[in-house]
Amino acid sequence: MAGRAGCAGALGHTVADLEQDGDGVEVTVESGGRRWRTRAAYLAGCDGSRSLVRKRAGIGFPARPPPTTACSRTSSSPTPPPCRSA
Ligand SMILES: Cc1cc2nc3c(=O)[nH]c(=O)nc-3n(C[C@H](O)[C@H](O)[C@H](O)COP(=O)(O)OP(=O)(O)OC[C@H]3O[C@@H](n4cnc5c(N)ncnc54)[C@H](O)[C@@H]3O)c2cc1C
Repeated sequence: MAGRAGCAGALGHTVADLEQDGDGVEVTVESGGRRWRTRAAYLAGCDGSRSLVRKRAGIGFPARPPPTTACSRTSSSPTPPPCRSA
């Protein structure tokens, strides 16, 4: 899909840093012990929940983890202790 939109894909490279200005974005890329810079009009941040792109763009992540209920029982008693919500 990205290719159809005219995007160039490059696997195995890490975005190490980026700087935005009025004309686009300057990206510092690392791979194979090398580090270089490239420039693009846009950078799509598809780099997961700890997204460097999101952080560098100054976009917050106000979400909180969902409430969890977990239960693990190990008991020899015929009446095991009740589960508690976390
Ligand atoms: C243990 C676990 C179990 C899960 N189980 C489920 C499930 O059963 N069902 C479900 O719907 N969801 C599940 N999820 C959630 C699901 O994995 C995520 O919602 C989904 O993978 C998010 O997709 P994404 O493309 O945004 O990010 P990701 O899948 O995290 O992909 C991000 C990609 O960006 C790359 N990347 C990161 N930083 C950089 C960088 N600086 N430069 C270059 N590349 C970078 C990473 O290597 C990775 O390839 C689970 C998550 C976890 C942790």
